[in-house]
Amino acid sequence: ARLNLQKFCSQLVEEYQLMHSDRQEIQFILRGKRTTACVDKKLLQQILGNLLSNALKYSPDKGTVSITMTCKNNRVIFQVCDQGIGIPLEDQPHIFEPFHRAANVDVIRGTGMGLAIVKKAVDIHGGEISFESEVDVGTTFSVILPMVQAEPSSVTLPEFK
Ligand code: ATP
Ligand code: MG
Repeated sequence: ARLNLQKFCSQLVEEYQLMHSDRQEIQFILRGKRTTACVDKKLLQQILGNLLSNALKYSPDKGTVSITMTCKNNRVIFQVCDQGIGIPLEDQPHIFEPFHRAANVDVIRGTGMGLAIVKKAVDIHGGEISFESEVDVGTTFSVILPMVQAEPSSVTLPEFK
């Protein structure tokens, strides 16, 4: 089914803001036209939820986290930006691998699975994911999804046994 992307993002941001209200502020920035798209709701939830959760988890108490949605040329671009601890250069090639966690997150809890799931969900939509990060400065993840006319082909998430 078609999904109202703006409404979906606002609700997601509201939900995460409630969970983190005492710590961090989340900004939602909308660029371009409001739009709907044939995107799998559960998968988009996985994509943006994991990126937001990382941005909040790996940021200091007073950091600002933003999510920007830009719709243009039949593509939607989501950017999740934080002013957190950043990803060390030597870990950058590996962060989409299951269970990989960087050395600077030792004391912060996680399983190392979030981004592997995000990558898979982006692939299912024929999209692209990239990031830029600098230690102690921050990280920005960008996801580009094509605004396809048809539903994404029947979706099976990997099973982890
Ligand atoms: P979980 O499975 O609970 O999400 P996780 O957050 O450790 O655990 P991923 O979301 O897959 O796992 O992220 C993998 C690693 O990439 C993290 O452990 C961390 O080292 C790094 N990372 C991801 N996002 C950020 C970010 N916004 N800032 C700093 N490091 C990040
Ligand atoms: Mg994570």
